Amino acid sequence: MNMQRIETKSGNFNMTDYEETYQKFNWDEAKSNFSWHTTGKANIAYEAIDRHAENPDKADQIALIYSAPDREEKLTFTDLKQSSNQFANVLKKHGVEKEDRVFLFMPRSPEFYASFLGILKVGAIAGPLFEAFMEQAVRDRLEDSEASMLVTTPELLERVPFSDLPHLKKVVLVGESDQKGEAYIDYHAEMNEASKSFDVEWVDLEDGMLLHYTSGSTGKPKGVYHVHNAMLQHYQTGKWVLDLKEDDIYWCTADPGWVTGTSYGIFAPWLNGVTNLVRGGRFSPEQWYETLQEKEVTVWYSAPTAFRKLMSAGEDIVKEYNLTNLRHVLSVGEPLNPEVIAWGMSALELRIHDTWWMTETGGQLICNFPALDMKPGSMGKPFPGIVASIIDNEGNELPPNQMGNLAIKAPWPSMMRAIWKRPEKYESYFLNGWYISGDSAYKDEEGYFWFQGRLDDVINTSGERVGPFEVESKLIEHPAVSEAGVIGKPDPERGEIIKAFITLNDGYSESEELLEEIRQFVKKGLSAHAAPRELEVKDTIPKTRSGKIMRRLLKSWELGLPTGDVSTLEE
Ligand code: ATP
Ligand code: MG
Repeated sequence: MNMQRIETKSGNFNMTDYEETYQKFNWDEAKSNFSWHTTGKANIAYEAIDRHAENPDKADQIALIYSAPDREEKLTFTDLKQSSNQFANVLKKHGVEKEDRVFLFMPRSPEFYASFLGILKVGAIAGPLFEAFMEQAVRDRLEDSEASMLVTTPELLERVPFSDLPHLKKVVLVGESDQKGEAYIDYHAEMNEASKSFDVEWVDLEDGMLLHYTSGSTGKPKGVYHVHNAMLQHYQTGKWVLDLKEDDIYWCTADPGWVTGTSYGIFAPWLNGVTNLVRGGRFSPEQWYETLQEKEVTVWYSAPTAFRKLMSAGEDIVKEYNLTNLRHVLSVGEPLNPEVIAWGMSALELRIHDTWWMTETGGQLICNFPALDMKPGSMGKPFPGIVASIIDNEGNELPPNQMGNLAIKAPWPSMMRAIWKRPEKYESYFLNGWYISGDSAYKDEEGYFWFQGRLDDVINTSGERVGPFEVESKLIEHPAVSEAGVIGKPDPERGEIIKAFITLNDGYSESEELLEEIRQFVKKGLSAHAAPRELEVKDTIPKTRSGKIMRRLLKSWELGLPTGDVSTLEE
């Protein structure tokens, strides 16, 4: 069932030979790229922005292109240095101290980035939240983190239960508001008065900088704590996986409420001194292609759900745009279906590079490198400096081609350093010196890793273990199927049966014949035991804000069970 391998093309790669680099690389080498290596003074925001602003060759380079339907702005490294300094001064004035948690609940905007960087510059810990969160989701995260300050907009303020949050002292409001009083800070008024100079708080590399709640695909989101040292991994993966060069225009479509939107929407591009495009507004195939064309994007990082939607919109649309600047495309968040890679080869004439990592890992770990042949359906190979393996439940390594726990030798630079206030939970990730990801996978003889599913999602049907990803990928190969979510449904005879929920592409309507045809299609393409016994057509498949299929929700609906934490559900 595996598509043929797609060979690498020589050219613009920062890494020319994967195997050789993997053998030679050591994290100590990465350190020499940072100013703290010589000065001893560290802060990730300084390295990402100020270092470039202080370099005459880079000071006036555009760092941020902000593009939304009603607003276009370009900010240089100097602009960002100054606005983040101003915000750092505002925070200081209102008593924010090192290690305080300052949360952000607002859409992407130049103010968001100035605030985020300002928080890091005072040594505080930033906590970005999706703007679409409703009150309960906001409450849970502010309560758990004991945040003392929140940056938000007047429109979103009604979803902040301020008076119920004893730790929350002040709210910064970005925009015109009638809310006055001690507890409210007017962003624009105070920024105008604040100095553009600020003495950055130098930190220990092990000091905290970021608290990210996980996507909530499998249960209640966890508060994942990251430290400044993560910059080593952000920088180096930006160079070798994103293949960033100084004159690139890079677009990461992820919101900073999701770890991809910070590690790779903020840190990796700026640590590499690259122009970073941020697009506000909603998804539409036309507008996305237009953005790629008009902003002359060269490197593009997105997610399978977005690629699948573009694929459903058809290949004719792509041809209306000039995408010749685009040279490198990457994906994260969910398994990347081989069908989507085939679409990329045809519609974009580029390989789409899958990357595997998690909120907890802080940075990419297993990837398809530009300098590596690609096996569609495989996540690729470990990043240099990362040891990955498949282990059994006792912590023993398994031979090639055996499915087991995908595990990483701990630690690595961007690894989480805690689960907020839950030390036992943190400990539970580790076994015999391995970090256990919770995903199941196998490794082939050539060292490529193949994702099988979340451990919780693996289906046991008539004694066969089936990963939902394989079945979903086969389903979407059928021309009628747009998206698919597959679960195991308890069955007295078979243990579990496979049930698939699908959405249909435009021009197809549900009928017994069509469903039977789709079932046969999976049966012929995969195997009889992998063919869904039940198929249900839906209008949408439930997904998290970061675009992940929420199989646990499909399962609860199917079984009539309580739905659990749905705070991250996309509407
Ligand atoms: P929660 O931990 O709250 O259930 P989550 O695991 O979805 O949510 P994230 O940290 O955003 O939260 O996602 C990490 C998970 O996403 C991985 O464990 C894996 O299951 C999936 N994932 C990420 N990238 C890939 C990929 N390239 N291929 C397959 N799965 C991926
Ligand atoms: Mg997880």
